[in-house]
Amino acid sequence: MRMSDQRMYERVLASDASYNGRFFLGVLTTGIYCLPGCTARKPKRENVRFFPTCEAARATGLRPCKKCFPDDFAQGADPVLESIEALVAEIRRDPVAFHDTRTIVRRSGFGSSRVFELFRLHYHQTPADLLLRARIAHARTALLATSAPLTEVAANAGFESLSVFHEHFRRLTGLTPGDYRKLSRGASFTIHLPTGYPLPYLRRALSRDGHSVNEHLAGDGYTCATRINDRPALVSFQLADETIEVAASPDNVAVHQMVSGLLGLGQDANGFARLAQKLGLARLVRGRPGLRISQTHSVFDGLLWSIVGQQINFPFACQLRRRLIELAGTPLDHGLIAPPAAAAVAALKPADLIALKFSRQKAAYVIDVARLVVEGNLDLHALAQGSATRAERTLLDIRGLGPWSVNYLMMRALGFADCVPYGDTGVTSGLQALFKLEQRPDVDATRRLMAVFAPYRSLATAHLWQFNQPMPT
Ligand SMILES: [Zn+2]
Repeated sequence: MRMSDQRMYERVLASDASYNGRFFLGVLTTGIYCLPGCTARKPKRENVRFFPTCEAARATGLRPCKKCFPDDFAQGADPVLESIEALVAEIRRDPVAFHDTRTIVRRSGFGSSRVFELFRLHYHQTPADLLLRARIAHARTALLATSAPLTEVAANAGFESLSVFHEHFRRLTGLTPGDYRKLSRGASFTIHLPTGYPLPYLRRALSRDGHSVNEHLAGDGYTCATRINDRPALVSFQLADETIEVAASPDNVAVHQMVSGLLGLGQDANGFARLAQKLGLARLVRGRPGLRISQTHSVFDGLLWSIVGQQINFPFACQLRRRLIELAGTPLDHGLIAPPAAAAVAALKPADLIALKFSRQKAAYVIDVARLVVEGNLDLHALAQGSATRAERTLLDIRGLGPWSVNYLMMRALGFADCVPYGDTGVTSGLQALFKLEQRPDVDATRRLMAVFAPYRSLATAHLWQFNQPMPT
């Protein structure tokens, strides 16, 4: 149904960018045409004409606006997303220039509620949380690169008090700022777990493939073969009630980063538990309110797994993954093999993988995606740094990655907080049990049911995966 002119004009007055592309407006007095979200001065109603396309506007002799670039948008550019991405890049580059959320809103050029909506949509975070994480990242760099006193590091990152700096730093990294600085000395270090961290679930995550060739959990000792700074390396740690003791490595900073990901530090588990409570769904988090999503060892690992694990059962997926590691990985001590780098996978022939029982299609997908990485056409580091929207669009464009793989990768390897791997049987059977449905929900029903968990849908997914499982001991 066509929108009324009145409705369109209201959206123009509101500079509502969510209507960009749905219509274009021409301003007869200036001779230009714009997107509804354009922030240029608002024309009087009698001077405005509406058009379904750029072409229709141009056909009447109007020219494209130099502020909102309507033709670019029509060709697939997304100026609203780009302006938010530019703002976030600015926040991360110089967090101290942003005193608080109000500064972010002011600099955005949007209204306050629109900014919250855009941050949630594109970054799965509130502006305040994104700013806090940018400050911590800034402080981490400064701690390693300078010998400035902690008060100075804190102030330069935008923290007004040293105790607030300490508290957030420790929550997000498991270390005090002083201990973080000592990482570069290469000694062993101790990560402090958040209160109520459910260790049995971490043990389950670390030993989910009982025949793994790249990781091993014996008692409370964990060792894995992985790649640290692009080199094969062993990482070991000891689990205790409130701490993780990580063995020394010359690459301590990168090892800390990887272990933090495995532990899911920095995920807002308490926020999700409160939401579940509020929704009357406390049963979803019972016995594990502090559950985190254990991140994959590397983004490339996650990428391989998101293709290997498609549409097959878990034991078979583990088997294929082990065979791939044995074929192309790097053997290290303790009988462990580091998973292959992209170059080793890109050098394989489909027949190598088909011989290991990969389907013809899956073999091609795995090799193709490794080639994209090696040839510089898929920048995994940039994906993790950019917006969730950009990551999702980039990944969906890759042959072999559908909505399940893309969302799985975004939550397990890129750390985005509001993803659902649609079509996942663990999610659908979890939802069926949680809401006592007669049958498993299809994709549309899954979408509707999961909507209540925004902006924590990744953690909701993690809980649903556990919902039908026996409690770990
Ligand atoms: Zn304009």
